[in-house]
Amino acid sequence: MPLYSVEGIVLRTREYGERDRLVTLVDRDGTRRTVLAKGVRRPRSSLAAGVQPYTYSRFLLWKGRSLDGVSQVQVLDAHAGLRGSLEALAAAAYVAELAEAFTHEGAPSPGVFPVLLAVLRGLAAAPADRVAQGLWLRHAELRLLDLAGLGIQLEACQDCGRPLVLPQGRGAGGGPPAPAPGEGALPAGYSAEMGGALCRRCRPGRPAALSLDPATWQVLRLAGRLNPQLAARLRPAPATLARAAEVTQTHLVYHLGRPFRSAGILAILDEAAMPPAGPPAPGASAGR
Ligand SMILES: [Zn+2]
Repeated sequence: MPLYSVEGIVLRTREYGERDRLVTLVDRDGTRRTVLAKGVRRPRSSLAAGVQPYTYSRFLLWKGRSLDGVSQVQVLDAHAGLRGSLEALAAAAYVAELAEAFTHEGAPSPGVFPVLLAVLRGLAAAPADRVAQGLWLRHAELRLLDLAGLGIQLEACQDCGRPLVLPQGRGAGGGPPAPAPGEGALPAGYSAEMGGALCRRCRPGRPAALSLDPATWQVLRLAGRLNPQLAARLRPAPATLARAAEVTQTHLVYHLGRPFRSAGILAILDEAAMPPAGPPAPGASAGR
C-alpha cells in the first residue's frame, strides 16, 4: 500500500466498528482529512496518543481505496496543559469546531493551520487563565473570519467610512490622532449587516446594531493580532470580554448561518464562573 506523510492537528475522533476510530485532522496546508485509525481502541495501541483530539502529530498514512488510514503516528505536541482544565478543554473543542467549519475535506485552506496551532498553544500554556482563554478564542474567530474574506471591519465606520479612533486621552500608542471634540469618529456600534463597526453618529441610524464601546472595540482590534506576550498583558474587564464575544459570535452566526455547539457549552461554563451580579469592580477597565 502506498504511504505518505503529513503533519496535522487532530480536530476530533469518532468510534468506527469495534476497535477503530475515524480521525478528523487539519494538515499544515489547511486541508481537512478524515482517516482511519485501525485498532486504536485496543489496549496499548501505538496510535492512541497521536490521534487524541487537539494533538499536533506527524502521521504516516496509507492510501486506501475510499479512506486513507494511519500506519504510524508521532506526537509533536500533545498540548497537555489542556487536559487538566474543563474550561480549557471546552475552549479547545470550540476552536476545533471553528477550524472544521473553515476548512474543506481534501482541499487546502491556507493560513488556518498556524492559527489553530497558535491558539491551542496559547490555551494549553495558561489553562486556568480565563481572560487569556477568552482573548485566544476571539483571536481564532477574528483570524479565521479574515482568512475566509469575512473579517469584521473595525478600522473605519462601515456607514460613513470615517476612520475610527479611541476617545481623546486614551491614544492608541502611535495610532491615528484622536478626533477633535464634537467631531468624534468614535466607535459606538457593530452591525452584522454592514460587516463591522459604526461610529457614534451613524449608530442611531441602525437600530439593529449591537453597542460597541471603545474599550470593547480596542480589545477586538488587539485580539486580532494576539500573541502570547499580549495575551498575558491584556487584562480587559470580564464585561468587556463578554461584549467582544457577543460581537464575534453574532458575526459568525450571521455569516455561517448556524451557532456552534461548543460555544453553548462555553457560555454555560462562563456563567458558572461569573461573580454574582452587582456593581462593576472599581477601576475595571480594558487593558491598554
Ligand atoms: Zn459613521
